[in-house]
Amino acid sequence: MLELRPSCEHCNQALPPAAEDARICSFECTFCAACVTLLENVCPNCGGGFSPRPIRPARNHKGDNCTAHYPPSNTVKHRPVDLAAHALFAARLRQIAPNAR
Ligand SMILES: [Zn+2]
Ligand SMILES: [Zn+2]
Repeated sequence: MLELRPSCEHCNQALPPAAEDARICSFECTFCAACVTLLENVCPNCGGGFSPRPIRPARNHKGDNCTAHYPPSNTVKHRPVDLAAHALFAARLRQIAPNAR
């Protein structure tokens, strides 16, 4: 189950469960769409690409599978990226599609 982290790791913008601009990598490193553009779709922690984070239903449509029963994480991970170091890290990776990294 996804953690649904509460904010962007780089800029700390709030990303509530229904945020349509939340992006995650396969390890759930969580960023806003603007920061993913800034990072050139290269996760600074793993080098993978990002996808839109699925939105967990707020209401119980079936089996209690909703945010009321499975609430989002409230543990903030605010670790601003060193953009100069990231530019070097991403220089090669950004040219490779995520499915070939
Ligand atoms: Zn951000
Ligand atoms: Zn990652």
